[in-house]
Amino acid sequence: MPGMTMTEKIIARHAGRAQVRPGENVWVDVDVLMTHDVCGPGTIGIFHEKFGRAAKVWDKKRVVIIPDHYIFTADEKCHRNVQILRDFVRAQGLEYYYDPEFVKNEPGMPNPYVDPTRTHYRGVCHKVLPEEGHVRPGEILLGTDSHTCTAGAFGQFATGVGNTDAAFTLGIGKTWLKVPPTMKFVFHGQIPPYLTAKDMILAVIGEIGVAGATYKTMYFTGDAIRSLTLEDRMTLTNMAIEAGGKNGVCDVDEKTLQYVRHRSRNRSWDVFEDDKNAEYCYQKQWDLATLEPLVAKPHSPDNKDTAGNCRHVRIDQAYIGSCTGGKITDMIFAAGILKGCRVKVPTYVVPGSTEVHADMRRMNLVGAARGPNEKSIEEILLEAGCHVGPSGCSACLGGPPDTFGRLHSGEVCISTTNRNFPGRMGSMAAAVYLASPLTVAASALTGHITDPREFVFQPIPTGMAGVR
Ligand code: SF4
Repeated sequence: MPGMTMTEKIIARHAGRAQVRPGENVWVDVDVLMTHDVCGPGTIGIFHEKFGRAAKVWDKKRVVIIPDHYIFTADEKCHRNVQILRDFVRAQGLEYYYDPEFVKNEPGMPNPYVDPTRTHYRGVCHKVLPEEGHVRPGEILLGTDSHTCTAGAFGQFATGVGNTDAAFTLGIGKTWLKVPPTMKFVFHGQIPPYLTAKDMILAVIGEIGVAGATYKTMYFTGDAIRSLTLEDRMTLTNMAIEAGGKNGVCDVDEKTLQYVRHRSRNRSWDVFEDDKNAEYCYQKQWDLATLEPLVAKPHSPDNKDTAGNCRHVRIDQAYIGSCTGGKITDMIFAAGILKGCRVKVPTYVVPGSTEVHADMRRMNLVGAARGPNEKSIEEILLEAGCHVGPSGCSACLGGPPDTFGRLHSGEVCISTTNRNFPGRMGSMAAAVYLASPLTVAASALTGHITDPREFVFQPIPTGMAGVR
């Protein structure tokens, strides 16, 4: 009998089965359901419609609500969405809700938090879920957001679902899953100083295309993956959906366990790994020594090219943020290049979470607590001429016209975000190049797309940043 992959084992365990095979449909128990301010109101509406006005969620300790998308805007419909979440949380007695208390459900732009350590608000859901201890190996996480696959970096099955599926899970704590076949992506070697995980995932998506992993598991493994931080692994799994993947996973190792032990709200979890005779529907290997800094050109994440080939492309704006490119290690990578220099184009920086924002103020350039005479990461970025905004999804998803960093006309932007479809960052006329924080920072300094090897000559250490 063939062995099973990590994903198959997690699904089998949650289905009460000894074995499952790709293509089978099974009912599984869900460990955590997450929703946010965009899809939460719709999910809540369907939940009440199907289960009744007085219905209670299946387990109030397994529902996590994280407003993050349209927070810093005067748009009243966005304020109303946050209020719908608040009313639901109160009525259901939910414990895990991260309220932007500065959104008052009244006209005008809410005043952002002053101190990121003194707000209930936490920032982008996919960064906040592991930070707040809602992510554990071996579990099943569903979220009403396609980038829920990010949490697969921690060895769990995590995937995005629509509002109807989420409402159903809210009511009964289960979902119906088709077991995905697994694609195996093996990376060898040490990551060179001019590459990050963003280059690795752009290489994968450029190879297989935006539909290349449709309804499949993307399994990232090899010695190079083991050498990555959890934050960089999250960049890989975050963008599994950009290839159509059902989920993305990395092996669980001591780095994973260290993170989860420190953060998790539950003390026990199960670690699964692929059997030696597990079956894969696709395999591909990369040697990091041969990989170059990459970009995804407009208007698709699989429109791969090297940064060097695009050096003729002049840019109007740079953007460093989102769940895939707004982590503290991304900020350290960018600050490592921008330190002591001035950007040539407007450069917007949006921390992925309030924890990231706090760390940007607390840490020095090597990811340690800064000394009295050292500059913080935020100070370095501000002195380089960057605009630093409050944590959230911000312009990654375009948003209302008053959104920080949004594109409004035919700008050319280089961005650490994960999607560059027309209109994604606000304007249908804009052109967005996706790239690593190193490539984005290097390009911000020159005003055209720039290979970071022009600025990076040795590894940029990130210490324990993002781990704690
Ligand atoms: S940061 Fe961007 S990709 Fe991530 S959840 Fe927000 S809108 Fe989606």
